[in-house]
Amino acid sequence: MKATRLISGTGRTVTRMGEVPAYEEGLYDTGHDTFAWLVPNGSWGETNVGLVRCGGSTVLIDTCWDLHHTREMLAHADAILQAAPISHLINTHADGDHCWGNQLFPGIPIYSTQACADQLHHHRPRQLSALKLGSRLFSHVPVHGVDALGRYMGAMLRPYDFSGIHVVGATQTFSGQLSVEVEGIRLELMEVGPGHTNGDCIVHVPERRVVFTGDILFVNVTPVAWAGPVSGITGALKRVLEMDVDVIVPGHGPLATRADVQRQIDYWEWLEPSLRTLASHGHKVDEAAQLCLDSKAFRKAPFSRWRAAERIFTSACTLYRAWGLPHARDSGPIGQLDHFRRQALLRVA
Ligand SMILES: [Zn+2]
Repeated sequence: MKATRLISGTGRTVTRMGEVPAYEEGLYDTGHDTFAWLVPNGSWGETNVGLVRCGGSTVLIDTCWDLHHTREMLAHADAILQAAPISHLINTHADGDHCWGNQLFPGIPIYSTQACADQLHHHRPRQLSALKLGSRLFSHVPVHGVDALGRYMGAMLRPYDFSGIHVVGATQTFSGQLSVEVEGIRLELMEVGPGHTNGDCIVHVPERRVVFTGDILFVNVTPVAWAGPVSGITGALKRVLEMDVDVIVPGHGPLATRADVQRQIDYWEWLEPSLRTLASHGHKVDEAAQLCLDSKAFRKAPFSRWRAAERIFTSACTLYRAWGLPHARDSGPIGQLDHFRRQALLRVA
C-alpha cells in the first residue's frame, strides 16, 4: 500500500466513542493529488471522507454526520481548498453519517445513485436528536434491556449535534455507472448496491490509482448489511480486489490493504452459511446471532477483534428477512428501538 502523510491532524487523544485512537484523526495525503479525512477508530459516525484535487477544483466524496464535524474537516483541508475549491460532491450512500453535511455545499452538483436518492430520508435528523435525548432517560430504566439500549444509543449519538440539519440530496442521479470528468480527471461512479444500503456506490479514479468504497468496506470494524443481499457486498469487494489501485479508502477505519478487503469477504462468507445452518435448526434470529458470536470459529477468526461485533444482529435480521423467516427489522420508531435494544443485549466475549 502507498505510504501516506498526515497533513493536518486534530491531535485528539480519545476517539468519539471514548477509545484510544489506533491512528491519528485528520487529513492525509494519499498521493497523486488525492486526500482522505480519516476518523479513528471507524465506529458509529466515525466516517471517512475523500478529496480528489483536479486542477483548480476539488471533488469531495461524502460529508459527515453533522455540520460541526463537516466544518471541522473542511477547516483541516483549507490549504488545499483555498487553491482548489470544492466543485463536485459525491455521496456513496444514504446513511446520514455520509451525507448530512451536504447542505454546506449549495449550488454545486451532488451525485448519487437513484436508489440512494430514493432512500435519503429513511432517517431524519429530528428523530436522532430525540433519540439522543431519550437515551439519557432510557439508561435509567433497568427493565427489559431498556437501560442497555440507552447506554448503547447514548454512546453512539452523544458526539453529534443533529440540530440545524436539513437533508439535501443529489442534484444528479444515475443507475449502473457514471463517468464524471472534472478538469480532465475521470471519476468512475459504480453502483454496487443494494448491499450495505439500497443505493451503494464506489468511486474509482483510475488515473489517481485510488478507490473510495463507502460502507461496502469497513476496516477493523464489523460491517453491516442494512439492505442486503450479502452477495451485493461481497461482489463489490471482489471488484475492489480486481482494481489496479494503490489506495483503498474504506467508509470507516484506516486505509485498507488487499488483505483487509479479503478479510471482510471472509466475514460475510462465514456469516451467511453459519446463520443459514442455525436457522435451519430452528434458532430465532437473536439466538442465532449470539451463537455465532459464541462460536469457536468466530473467536478464532481475525474478525472477532473488530469493533462493533454486535452489528451481527442487524445483518442476521437482513438475512432472515431474505429467507422469509421472522426477523426484527420492523419499521417505525418503536420497531427500530426494539431492534437496537436487541442488538445492545448481545454479549460480545
Ligand atoms: Zn453506511
